[in-house]
Amino acid sequence: MKNNEVNSAYIARCQRQLKKWNAPLDGWYCDDVVDIEEENSSDGLYTCELCGCTRVRFIHVMHHDDYFEDIKVGCICAGIMEGDVLASKERERLMKNRAKRRSNFPNRKWKENRYGGFSLKYQDNWVNIQQSRFNQNHYGVSCNGKFIWKHKGRPITSFLAATYAAFDLVDPVERIYEL
Ligand SMILES: [Zn+2]
Repeated sequence: MKNNEVNSAYIARCQRQLKKWNAPLDGWYCDDVVDIEEENSSDGLYTCELCGCTRVRFIHVMHHDDYFEDIKVGCICAGIMEGDVLASKERERLMKNRAKRRSNFPNRKWKENRYGGFSLKYQDNWVNIQQSRFNQNHYGVSCNGKFIWKHKGRPITSFLAATYAAFDLVDPVERIYEL
């Protein structure tokens, strides 16, 4: 660990917790990042499972090939677990930028298309939003030949929800943690 901001007492405390769980101290990698503000069901922030910090907005889901479950932590704990705080901070930064792009996304210039839906060109991709022929409150989203009627396991029931579903297709979080 070559980052001065992270003091050794903090690292020791995290490692003590990992030992308590019989979890490996290294060899972890980030398998997903969740912006808690995107989750409709949640109000407020997440509590880091490792250090107990209650102010986590971006949850770094840490995976280990030899451990039976993932550990969901904040930025610094993620860096300690993967042995690279600079990498976890970079993920955090990219997630913040993505969150800004996401909040602007519904307000972009959606154009009515010939099917009565709406289309938008974003980073060289066309995304389309379409209401179902059978149900005005059910929306579909397509991008590059991929068509979805559900987002995060739920039917898409408003234009706004459809724009967020479209955003996940054209600007996926995977791009950030798979760097
Ligand atoms: Zn933590």
